[in-house]
Amino acid sequence: MKILQNVSLLPYNTFGLDVKAENFAEVSSVADLRASLSTGIQPVFLLGGGSNVLFTQDVQGLVLKNKLRGIQVIREFKNKVWVEVGGGEVWHEFVLWAVAKDYGGLENLSLIPGTVGASPIQNIGAYGVELKDVFVRLKALNLTTGKLRSFNHTACQFGYRDSIFKRQEKGKWCITSVVFSLRKSPHRLNISYGDISKTLESSGITKPGIDDISRAVVQIRTSKLPDQAKIGNCGSFFKNPETERAVLDQILETYPQAPHYRLPDGRVKIPAGWLIEQCGWKGKRVGNTGCYERQALVLVNHGGATGEEVKNLAKTIVESVVEKFGVRLEAEVNFWPLN
Ligand SMILES: Cc1cc2nc3c(=O)[nH]c(=O)nc-3n(C[C@H](O)[C@H](O)[C@H](O)COP(=O)(O)OP(=O)(O)OC[C@H]3O[C@@H](n4cnc5c(N)ncnc54)[C@H](O)[C@@H]3O)c2cc1C
Repeated sequence: MKILQNVSLLPYNTFGLDVKAENFAEVSSVADLRASLSTGIQPVFLLGGGSNVLFTQDVQGLVLKNKLRGIQVIREFKNKVWVEVGGGEVWHEFVLWAVAKDYGGLENLSLIPGTVGASPIQNIGAYGVELKDVFVRLKALNLTTGKLRSFNHTACQFGYRDSIFKRQEKGKWCITSVVFSLRKSPHRLNISYGDISKTLESSGITKPGIDDISRAVVQIRTSKLPDQAKIGNCGSFFKNPETERAVLDQILETYPQAPHYRLPDGRVKIPAGWLIEQCGWKGKRVGNTGCYERQALVLVNHGGATGEEVKNLAKTIVESVVEKFGVRLEAEVNFWPLN
């Protein structure tokens, strides 16, 4: 493990932001992690695939790029397996590994960018499935003491795009590995969400397997989301707001077609993309940044944007949604430095 100085993070974040890390190292083992901590350089920032972080300035201290690899079946049951995966493994490559082995549960989460180690941070989710549905436990190294600890499902306090690692434990740990519980055949398929069943139908697939679902999800995501290699972005910039029913009722008076989903606690979830679109932001460009033309929830870098520009646009969007709907959007993306 080598610590380099003044390293551009441009290749390491999907927003395409050209900021520098004062110190930077790739870590491939727990020993590397401990050695980097023993230098005493602070603060330490853990970087996975950089697909959910907005850098608004150069990063002081030490950036550690997670390269801890390895995929291993650690327990075999009649109907399922437990698989332990290194935090630096690429998420989609792990999904493809599972699909190839005919282990089910991850197929709806195909093509989400980033690493396995970051997947519990915001309890990644897509097409009706969340990480918490397949999660068993994780191992994490404390960035102050260098000690390893195991977090089970309850300890992670998973919520909608949320976990303890986005709240009181934010920035304190490096997730070194995650254990998943994956089902053996026969699988429990989830094709009711979004366009999955429509996409399968249009391909003439009547009895889908998990590989068909994975391919359908890849097809849908590729058609809807910008390719971050071409247009810098972090996927959904905001969470879908969860509000009291009364707030929705007021919106429905003016917009009877407003989309919404009922939550078990009686509250409702309103798609943030719809709210932003109604404020006229979809496809709008502001300097080098803007809202993606096919999905208003995705803020993009048209080239040469700074993190500060993106942050300012996000702030203006939040204010316009508050003014029009009385709903305050919350960022899904992680800001550095913390906001
Ligand atoms: C085009 C696009 C589509 C997306 N679609 C989805 C989607 O459908 N669903 C969804 O949930 N997300 C989605 N995302 C967001 C993103 O892919 C996920 O949040 C992903 O888990 C981030 O992984 P990463 O390795 O890139 O994390 P990074 O961006 O590197 O880091 C994100 C945060 O986690 C911390 N972190 C990273 N790794 C570790 C670790 N090992 N230990 C401790 N802390 C760590 C970082 O410090 C940072 O605060 C999308 C992003 C893009 C660009």
